[in-house]
Amino acid sequence: TASAVTSFQSSKGLPSDGVVGPDTWQSLVGQGGNGGGHSLPIPRDTLGRGYYEAPHHDYPALDLPVGTGTPIYAVHSGVAHQVNNDRCGLGYSVEGDDGATYFYCHFSAHGVGSGTRVDAGTQIGLSGNTGNSTGPHLHFEITAGGAQRCPQAAMLAIYDGATPPAAGDLPTSGCIE
Ligand SMILES: [Zn+2]
Repeated sequence: TASAVTSFQSSKGLPSDGVVGPDTWQSLVGQGGNGGGHSLPIPRDTLGRGYYEAPHHDYPALDLPVGTGTPIYAVHSGVAHQVNNDRCGLGYSVEGDDGATYFYCHFSAHGVGSGTRVDAGTQIGLSGNTGNSTGPHLHFEITAGGAQRCPQAAMLAIYDGATPPAAGDLPTSGCIE
């Protein structure tokens, strides 16, 4: 069991101490309680359900107001590419295995190198306030079929432990305030 734990930990980028502590446990259960290949982008106990249905300020996306240093997890498996620019600050673009692209912005620290394969629930960094941001938060965005999608319905399903809609089936409007 100990060697299974340490190899699981190293595959998730966690300290390989062989102890199933809170981070390892959250990685095992996939944040949202759904083992079906999806994870919330932050630890489930960080924010209440209502935050996942909040509209975005200008285009389809989701802002989650979490303090600097909150672990950020890949929502879907894929290949992570580091982003570092004036708008996003430190973040990632993850080319999902489902053909969608998942964007994460305003990190305080990157957690994995560019080109790293990630699973749903892999910790990819820590939240922060870098780039064009007026306070610590995670900006999260899904592009599929050439259009920005509203992530809200998928996030709520994952939060509820249900299977989320496919990224390409998410709406392209209705989530802007
Ligand atoms: Zn935003």
